[in-house]
Amino acid sequence: MPVRTIRPLHGHALSYLLADPHGREAALVDPQSRDLPLIHALLGEHRLSLRWVLRTHAHDAQPPAELAALHGLGVPVVQGGDAAQVRAPDDGGRLPLGRGIIRVLRTPGHTPDGLSFVWGDRLFCGCLLDVGGCAWQRWPADPALLWDSVTGKLFTLPDDTLIYPGQYRRRCSVSTVHDQRRWHAYFARCSRDAYLARLAAHAGPDHPHPHRPGPLPTPRC
Ligand SMILES: [Zn+2]
Repeated sequence: MPVRTIRPLHGHALSYLLADPHGREAALVDPQSRDLPLIHALLGEHRLSLRWVLRTHAHDAQPPAELAALHGLGVPVVQGGDAAQVRAPDDGGRLPLGRGIIRVLRTPGHTPDGLSFVWGDRLFCGCLLDVGGCAWQRWPADPALLWDSVTGKLFTLPDDTLIYPGQYRRRCSVSTVHDQRRWHAYFARCSRDAYLARLAAHAGPDHPHPHRPGPLPTPRC
């Protein structure tokens, strides 16, 4: 069980349990407090020792008690930004897990302080990039940074890197860097300027956040 996907009964958010096969150490990516009973059960069933809570990003709308509940797991919480009692690693930071290493990438765009995590040939990027058919990005904090993070960080990883996103869309939730670089509905075969123009076309004065593009229509592919 190197990676266990924790799927919600409702909604689209995904979280992951990473288990080092040798050291019996584990890390959680984007866990949600409502899943804590399941998380404790999985850790106990597989006799895993939790080492890290890794959060790709957090939103303002998140209940304040959420972070406190995750601290209750008793391990460091890794997250971008300057929230109290979280560890904010530098770009390229390395977090040990068993006999392996989790590498931290600073990937702003969806949120200003977004992080991604690379563990072997697996990438965990939260909501920075949706995969599965016609992916789209909703409410990016900064479309230009989003483009730079996706094309300059994610798409420069080896082709076979598996992408585990933070959202479940349609029937597919895991892809590869190769496939997304080649087929992504917004980032493939597109220039930075064209991408930004496309998002700007969806922004408007009536939008609750006029400086941000609104939800993008899902293109057919
Ligand atoms: Zn998000």
